[in-house]
Amino acid sequence: MISAALGRDLLDLLLPRACLGCGVRVPPEREPGLVCAACAATLREPPYPRCVRCDFPLGTGVRAEAACSECVRWPPSLSGARACSILRPPADALVHALKYDGWSGLAEVMGERMARLGVHPGVSRPFLVVPVPTTRARERGRGYNQARLLAEVVAEVTGQPVLDTLLRRPGGTTQVSLHPSQRLANVRRAFSVREDAKPRIQGACIVLVDDVLTTGATAGAAAETLASAGSGGVYLSAFTRAFPHMTESP
Ligand SMILES: [Zn+2]
Ligand SMILES: [Zn+2]
Repeated sequence: MISAALGRDLLDLLLPRACLGCGVRVPPEREPGLVCAACAATLREPPYPRCVRCDFPLGTGVRAEAACSECVRWPPSLSGARACSILRPPADALVHALKYDGWSGLAEVMGERMARLGVHPGVSRPFLVVPVPTTRARERGRGYNQARLLAEVVAEVTGQPVLDTLLRRPGGTTQVSLHPSQRLANVRRAFSVREDAKPRIQGACIVLVDDVLTTGATAGAAAETLASAGSGGVYLSAFTRAFPHMTESP
């Protein structure tokens, strides 16, 4: 008869699991999240001092202002944003694995970290956790919406309800091929609020959940849509943040 431990070792030999961050083999009994402890420890938050609204690193010697040059163009309805890591290894590998490689189990580790570090201090309880939706076509192709998986974990850990209130209209054009002004118009038209969810969002504080924050255009459009349907303050919580305008990594 095979002992439980030996059985696990055999299973591990047959189905070796590698850390998605570094490729090192992960002992299954110790690492539940498909990412090793060393990689999890290298995930870095944006450095201080940061903008009080959007968490953008301001550089040393700069006082935190109400709105920095990154978030000054965001609509007022997007009250704040916070990301719990910088988009560089291993955060980029985790996002890619969750989004494109079908590693939906990663949402557990990523969402748990978001609940701990990624909720903006301006958020008041109770709040609603709202995933940024993807288009139906993309969700069908992938089998799930990664933001929805993250939102479920954030909701569970914070003890707040998740509400799938936003719908995303199918857009024929991909964002990258558009001029910035067209891109803005494109995202403005992108969202609508589900009729049956409207009563619940009246005056409610909302934590929007997405995997990556880049310019804030998507979150801004989602926040405008929610605010025009009667919500209270909207705050984005992202797993990771890309800094496209920064010449050197923070
Ligand atoms: Zn690793
Ligand atoms: Zn800012």
